[in-house]
Amino acid sequence: MRFDLVTIFPEFFAGPLEHGIVRRAREAGIVDIHVQDLRAFTKDRHKTVDDRPFGGGEGMVLKPEPLFEAVESLLSHGVGDASRPGAADPKTAIVLTSAAGKLFKQETARRYAQLERIIFLCGRYEGVDERVAEHLATEEISIGDFVLSGGELAAALIVDAVTRLLPGALGNEASSQNESFAENASSESNSLPTGAQHSLASARDKAAPLQGPPSSQSASTSQVLLDFPHYTRPADFRGWKVPEILIGGNHAEVAKWRQAAAMEKTRRNRPDLDLP
Ligand code: SAH
Repeated sequence: MRFDLVTIFPEFFAGPLEHGIVRRAREAGIVDIHVQDLRAFTKDRHKTVDDRPFGGGEGMVLKPEPLFEAVESLLSHGVGDASRPGAADPKTAIVLTSAAGKLFKQETARRYAQLERIIFLCGRYEGVDERVAEHLATEEISIGDFVLSGGELAAALIVDAVTRLLPGALGNEASSQNESFAENASSESNSLPTGAQHSLASARDKAAPLQGPPSSQSASTSQVLLDFPHYTRPADFRGWKVPEILIGGNHAEVAKWRQAAAMEKTRRNRPDLDLP
């Protein structure tokens, strides 16, 4: 899978994408990450990427031309104009990072993991000329209900979340099936009685409107349940003890405890997920 990160701060990505799973996935050739300097796609002497907003107001806005040029150069074809808009390739997403975008969720990461290529457009200043959202990006995505100073952190976050879902990226293939927001409850430790699964699924449907085309929605019949709490040695740390049941080695009891603890924690930390 290939990621292109279009930014005015190419050095920004030196750290975040060079550790752990993402680093190993790059080394193994599972992902190919290219950082693109937006200024390289300008045509004027000053390499101008921004301009004042029409209609007045604070701050500067990223101009459309360099962003269109960057994407067209990366795709090696034009994306058209108002009289002849181009068709989008279903295996490539052009993601505009934006506080005003649709919310990025684990199911978005799962959908992206099916693609061949994602081009991220990182905004700055007051944001990006709206024609980029309307006629260049295939999606406008927010990573949460807060405002960052640039799209780079958002893009790095999405690259991380998607990369770890790619086959071979995690050492233990099972580990992404058993975590918070996992798609299905296939393992013993996360499996729930049928009734509970049913209500969790409907809780999720209420809490997390799905994104993307209908084909990607049908695969997402998961529950939203956060991960269960994990413990390691020492069993007694400053008088705070690991739950007895985890030490006993009774797998059925451990599975039951984890299921109950995951539900308790989900209720406590995410009342919006509305568990029964
Ligand atoms: N004026 C805009 C904020 C611009 S912040 C507004 O009020 O919505 C500058 C850039 O940071 C944005 O263009 C976007 O690329 C990025 N950004 C800010 N918050 C973000 C978020 N929650 N998710 C993704 N990108 C974000």
